[in-house]
Amino acid sequence: MNFISTRGGDTLSFGEAVIQGLAGDGGLFVPERLPPLAQHLPGWRGLPYAALAQEFLSLFATDIPSGELAGCVQRAYATFPTPTSPAPLIPLDTDKVPLYVMELFHGPTLAFKDFALQLLGQFYGRHIRISGQPVHILGATSGDTGSAAIYGVLGQPDVHSFILYPEGRIAPLQERQITTTGSPLVHPLAIHGSFDDAQAIVKEIFGDTDFVHTHALTAVNSINIARILAQCIYYLDAALKLGASETEPLEFVVPTGNFGNVLAGWMLSRMGVPGLRFCVVTNANDVVARFFQTGEYHPGKVSTSLAPSMDIQQASNFERWLWWHLEGDSIRVAALMAKLRSEGSFSLGSPEKLCGGILRTASCDDAGIERSIQHVHEETGYLADPHTACAFASVRQDVRSVVVATAHPAKFPEAIMKTTGLRPTHPILEHLKNLPVKKQILPANSQAVRQAITGVLASIKEQRRG
Ligand SMILES: *Cc1c(COP(=O)(O)O)cnc(C)c1O
Repeated sequence: MNFISTRGGDTLSFGEAVIQGLAGDGGLFVPERLPPLAQHLPGWRGLPYAALAQEFLSLFATDIPSGELAGCVQRAYATFPTPTSPAPLIPLDTDKVPLYVMELFHGPTLAFKDFALQLLGQFYGRHIRISGQPVHILGATSGDTGSAAIYGVLGQPDVHSFILYPEGRIAPLQERQITTTGSPLVHPLAIHGSFDDAQAIVKEIFGDTDFVHTHALTAVNSINIARILAQCIYYLDAALKLGASETEPLEFVVPTGNFGNVLAGWMLSRMGVPGLRFCVVTNANDVVARFFQTGEYHPGKVSTSLAPSMDIQQASNFERWLWWHLEGDSIRVAALMAKLRSEGSFSLGSPEKLCGGILRTASCDDAGIERSIQHVHEETGYLADPHTACAFASVRQDVRSVVVATAHPAKFPEAIMKTTGLRPTHPILEHLKNLPVKKQILPANSQAVRQAITGVLASIKEQRRG
């Protein structure tokens, strides 16, 4: 299977697209076609998670021998407490149509990003083993991605992680997840500035190809195609377990920021998995929801909310959806993205056509999030984190639904305390509170960050020689 850019350039294998991350023309990698899955579904029913993942991924990662792919998948999901079922479906007690919660927060950092980044770490490890080339990761985080990326590569020998975050502006527990690993390979860089400053520095450094090559840096962000494919698997697992069909459809209600999580589910529909519906839920940053309601894509200014991992206006994976929606017309995709850059928005057809009968949208502001946490707890006894609460607020009463739970409530104890009086805890997070913090505080400029990276990697080389 070849992977191509949404803007028409580059044709790579799966392994190459994973290591390269972003296409050379600024587009995102997509598989050149989506394999039809209907014929496989009967045989896949009942498979343990890793076996299902192996079957699914082998349709795309055709350049990885099946034994190696199986090893990557096994090791990735072995880090979850219940590896045969890492995405448990919890039925809630309601007197209405069946409602389930798909809990995606049982990985090492207690957020859904572990599903993708544990696997991505394995692919990096494999690349290093077979190519003999080093890989180091550089990224900026406003919270969950940084820690999930760090834990994704923690077991890989010699992979250094440089993670920038805004000093004093991420949740205390999120900072602890980044700064207390105790690993000599993890280098948290706290920037005196905002998340946007941190991200701008990372972008600037990736624009310097010499520096990037010399230091073998790769980007961790939500655009890697391996992340999207890894996310397809839990939707597939749920659809098989709950028996989704056109007569008995299943609506996944998905908290959305970069459009990565819900895109993965939507792709399964394109691959012929029957009966899947999706509700795309945003917080007050509702650019994606407005697009599917009006046909106009018009990102604004980011506002902060109780669900910080959804505080996004430029939904990077949206470009992939656009490419499929436009039937692979990369010239049009490139033109629309150019228009977005120059004019700040674009319009595209009627909302009905955009939704294709399988998508709907909703959004939820902070007051709605608080009401939702409280209401869900009162009605069902379930504790939802603020991201998951956005989804709960948007469940329809007339269709079998699965709320996609993206973070453990203990990651956001303040919002839960305020609304329910309870303080959720998790042993992983409690343990972090006693560990020593390691971080480097830097001014918000790329020179300081470059020096930090060069310093670390030069001293490693020195030690090897010595
Ligand atoms: C990243 C994240 C989201 C948003 O996922 P996207 O793929 O960006 O749409 C939602 N909830 C949590 C807890 C997250 O960490």
